[in-house]
Amino acid sequence: MNDALRTAFAAVHGGRPEGIWAAPGRVNLIGEHTDYNDGFALPVALAQTTRLAARRRTDGRLRLHSAQAGGPVVDLAVADLTPGAVTTWAAYPAGVVWALGEAGHRTGGADLHFDSTVPTGAGLSSSAALECAVARAYDDLHGLGLGPPALARIAQRAENAFAGVPCGVMDQMASSCCAAGAALHLDVRAGSHEHVPFDPEAAGLRLLIVDTRVTHDLGDGAYAALRAGCERACALLGLAALRDLSPDQLPRAERMLPARLRPLVRHVVTENARVAEAVAHLKAGRVAELGPILNSAHASLRDDYRVSCPETDLAVDSAVAAGALGARITGGGFGGCVIALVAADRAEQMGAAVTAAFRGAGYREPHLIPVTAAPGARRIE
Ligand code: ADP
Ligand code: MG
Repeated sequence: MNDALRTAFAAVHGGRPEGIWAAPGRVNLIGEHTDYNDGFALPVALAQTTRLAARRRTDGRLRLHSAQAGGPVVDLAVADLTPGAVTTWAAYPAGVVWALGEAGHRTGGADLHFDSTVPTGAGLSSSAALECAVARAYDDLHGLGLGPPALARIAQRAENAFAGVPCGVMDQMASSCCAAGAALHLDVRAGSHEHVPFDPEAAGLRLLIVDTRVTHDLGDGAYAALRAGCERACALLGLAALRDLSPDQLPRAERMLPARLRPLVRHVVTENARVAEAVAHLKAGRVAELGPILNSAHASLRDDYRVSCPETDLAVDSAVAAGALGARITGGGFGGCVIALVAADRAEQMGAAVTAAFRGAGYREPHLIPVTAAPGARRIE
């Protein structure tokens, strides 16, 4: 596989790369819409990765090419990188080089060629994989010694400030910091993380992603409105972030809020509690206990946060009807992916049932992606 990447690098840039790096996509087990509320999440890195063949240049040019984007090489001057200047896919990788420079680190030009198995725009963080591959490659090539969490923050800054996408830090932390066989318990406010064992196969289970392959356009505006709603609730409650509200304080807080904000607050508070519950079960090796937690999370995202849609509801309902222990929408919402936890010997049947349900509803056939907890961004050659 890496030979094909070297051949492609040679065809695009000529000669040989100095090395090859890989950064994974991610799926979030639990803790949705909590990262921008200073809360908790529990993502897992996927076996699907974005690989990067890279070689430094001495003339300050940044030359980017991607097998997925195709087209000619994007040729930029590192010295001219500025937010808003790049509006194509190249904004994500170029943004990382910019963010490194902004943070006072050594950077420079490079020839970069990407090839990825992470589905793009499906909510599995192909953008973070792209960024984290570049961050890790620059860290190695320039001997920056930054380490995975710092590289994740550089990658997030690239996406927020350079590419102009207001995402939280979960995606980049997952792609940068995950470990094989583990989920990443993330405390966004503390900026800390912990690896929690996650091995469904050892428990006779499978975690399956159902990619519905739909995205509803209301996505972007709705995300901003939800964030704004959370901020408004904090202002009314006199809190720094919704993370500061415990489930016991919820009834009193709800009485202080206008009706439209109550369900938002309810979701965030109960979701943070679900992360803690899931982590306790995983630490005790009770992977199957994740099932009911996924079901409650889906109900909360559907009824309180209202980010589900007919396709994701059908995926969840048909998975559960076919024997899944639990299922929920994952990612920002309004389409994208569902995860389902199922006994290994029922996984195939469940996948077939979900596919049949989609066909019956006249939807596009979903993609089924089995999850194995993979490592974060790394040099592979
Ligand atoms: P997600 O991160 O969930 O996949 P985003 O909308 O955040 O969805 O990021 C998808 C975008 O990232 C693509 O539209 C493209 O601009 C860029 N991207 C991701 N992977 C690649 C790749 N391998 N080659 C080129 N662009 C990519
Ligand atoms: Mg993304």
